[in-house]
Amino acid sequence: MSAGGGTALPGTLYVVATPIGNLGDVTLRALEVLRSVDVIAAEDTRITSKLLNRHGVAGRLIAVHEHNERRAAETVAGLLAGGKSVALVSDAGTPGIADPGARVVAAARAAGHVVVPVPGANAAAAALSASGFEAGRFLFCGFLPSRAAERRRVLGELAGERALMVFYEAPHRIKDCVADLCAVFGGAREVLIARELTKLHETLHRCRLEAAGEWLQGDDHRRRGEFVLVVEGAPEIVQDASAGAEDVLKTLLGELPLKQAVALAVKLTGGNRNELYGLALKLKGEN
Ligand code: SAM
Repeated sequence: MSAGGGTALPGTLYVVATPIGNLGDVTLRALEVLRSVDVIAAEDTRITSKLLNRHGVAGRLIAVHEHNERRAAETVAGLLAGGKSVALVSDAGTPGIADPGARVVAAARAAGHVVVPVPGANAAAAALSASGFEAGRFLFCGFLPSRAAERRRVLGELAGERALMVFYEAPHRIKDCVADLCAVFGGAREVLIARELTKLHETLHRCRLEAAGEWLQGDDHRRRGEFVLVVEGAPEIVQDASAGAEDVLKTLLGELPLKQAVALAVKLTGGNRNELYGLALKLKGEN
């Protein structure tokens, strides 16, 4: 199958995105690829079978999970070398994004096979799209470490990051994760808690980090399911221009006549001439 559609091409690996909950969120092209490939390499064949059954797709499934990824990569590379077409799918969303699959893709590429992405659902993109944050720049951070000390260390490294940050989190760690985000990043930043996206109990809640823990505690259901957290980046450190200019002016006034000191301070600080003139008069008056 070319980028435009048709029948799956021999010796080609298709990396196919599948739904992140709602089985309707599969693209027409994904179904076409899944129907036409020789083999579907799936993270969990039972989960993929449900999707295939729902859409009336019959396919030959093989398993590619975290624990057999190396061997599976060899199997898939062998199939491709034998001229077979293969679709790679994970349990949910886009393979290779916090999912097994990268090894399979790497092996296929290394052997010179064509790899074709078939894009679709992704939990990070879904959360970002509904967050209302301006996502000019964002950093996908995936899962934070499960151990508290390590998690705080990683968050410490991210504390100065200016871009939006996207985290995946499991229900049993969501409370601690949010508490650590608040402790390390400070409570003033906003967070979007996106829970059970595309599913029956989908919940999106945006608040300051300092209020997020209380919101999660407010109802047991709010801590259940799958989570994406979108967190604002570090605020720009705004230099206090007037404070800087005052120091500059003070120094210059000690050496130069007032008019010259003001003219030079304007050049050095980029400050407003009238404001600096007024400030200079005040400083002179204080002496
Ligand atoms: N490959 C997937 C993607 O494209 O988003 C991510 C797979 S990763 C193993 C699973 C994690 O993604 C979950 O623990 C959760 O953090 C996030 N996730 C997946 N589906 C989700 C959903 N429906 N709602 C919220 N988060 C979800």
